[in-house]
Amino acid sequence: MPLQLYNTATRRKEPFKPLKPDTVGMYVCGPTVYDRAHIGNARPVIVFDVLYRLLKRHYANVTYVRNITDVDDKIIAAARENGEPIAALTARTTQAFHDDMAALGALPPDAEPRATQHIAGMIAMTATLIDKGHAYEAEGHVLFDVTSMADYGKLSGRDRDEQIAGARVEVAPYKRDPADFVLWKPSDADQPGWDSPWGRGRPGWHLECSVMSHAHLGATFDIHGGGRDLIFPHHENEVAQSEGVNGAGTFAQTWVHNGFLTVNGEKMSKSLGNFFTVRDLLDDGWPGEALRLMTLKTHYRHPLDWTLDGLKEAKAELDHYYLALRHADDVDAAAEGAPPDVVEAALLDDLNTPLALTALRTVAGQLNKAADGAAKASCKAQLLAAGAAFGLLKEKPEMWLKGAATDDAGEIDALIAARNAARRSKDFAEADRIRDELAARGVVLEDGAGGTTWRRAG
Ligand code: AMP
Ligand code: ZN
Repeated sequence: MPLQLYNTATRRKEPFKPLKPDTVGMYVCGPTVYDRAHIGNARPVIVFDVLYRLLKRHYANVTYVRNITDVDDKIIAAARENGEPIAALTARTTQAFHDDMAALGALPPDAEPRATQHIAGMIAMTATLIDKGHAYEAEGHVLFDVTSMADYGKLSGRDRDEQIAGARVEVAPYKRDPADFVLWKPSDADQPGWDSPWGRGRPGWHLECSVMSHAHLGATFDIHGGGRDLIFPHHENEVAQSEGVNGAGTFAQTWVHNGFLTVNGEKMSKSLGNFFTVRDLLDDGWPGEALRLMTLKTHYRHPLDWTLDGLKEAKAELDHYYLALRHADDVDAAAEGAPPDVVEAALLDDLNTPLALTALRTVAGQLNKAADGAAKASCKAQLLAAGAAFGLLKEKPEMWLKGAATDDAGEIDALIAARNAARRSKDFAEADRIRDELAARGVVLEDGAGGTTWRRAG
């Protein structure tokens, strides 16, 4: 079964066919590094990580590029507010982004270009757009002339009035058309800037991605992704710039956009202040895998309304899988195999993670019921391989169930040892008291043939 992806550009689900056999290039817009990522920002990282893992199972050469936007007005403003040099702010925030995404189990991309490393390419592309009649200089700015592209608006499907409204244009007398957008703008002495034919200045955000994708994947490549808020103006403007230079039909062939993570129906965003950072949730003791599973329980194109209950459910579901795996601790099984066919078929169908997860649940149920060692080993291998397709189930069951992230595990082990000693000396009142104390701490004891094991109650 071939991969099917919903393509924003054609507005339908279509069979995915790479430009070159066995080779896929994918570019996903990365973070603007001025602040911690919130769980809305994590959604595209997790979704495209699952797509990346899927592509790697089906194509020999996959190149995943995700940029870092390290020159932007939000960065300038945040550095000023913090009283921190820009380079220190972007280095610190980039490191935090890497740490947070690793905690969510996201594989690093194959290339991670930074905007500041590609300024020469941005100046060159701007000059080419001027030469080709797609851009003009005005008062130290260079603007893209949207009227020069007959099909401007084709990606988002916005008509002219919607383009003007959506461009949220600041009053800018130097623009010939209100929908024209900035390729290059002048920098004051205290702003980051680079010398250019139009004076000392800095690039516009849209230009950055056109140049970085070209540098790593060429003029025409397979997949371009990001959150759906990027369709207009960011991706529409990338198309205009890149096709303005390289010709119609070049640039990304398939556009993939994830839906919003919302809070009470509103997009989670820094500007609304309705956000939770990945770091805060990790520090509260939520495992990265629970955040990841919560994200993947909803199809990537649908809105996902954030609730703490949703996160608790995801954690409880993982507890269930890890219990099944602990039940099979005594058999060896490798996770390297292909995921079960039903899981793979669901993922190949436009990344239908909710459907694929029902198959994962079935395998966990089979593992719980497996009667002999061979059945256990086969179910365990299937569960681990299915988990790996989602980037899940990588922890040791014993550690997961004990909540390795918390540090009272030693104390709990000591209480269990005390309870065992009480039982051996037939002091059952004391043994029960310790059991109750552990229960009050949310620890469930399981007495078995091999001794007492414990886990935290979901
Ligand atoms: P930003 O730093 O705002 O440019 O966002 C980085 C990435 O996160 C982009 O792909 C955005 O589309 C995506 N994003 C931002 N907010 C949300 C949200 N609430 N839900 C889903 N994706 C989001
Ligand atoms: Zn971008």
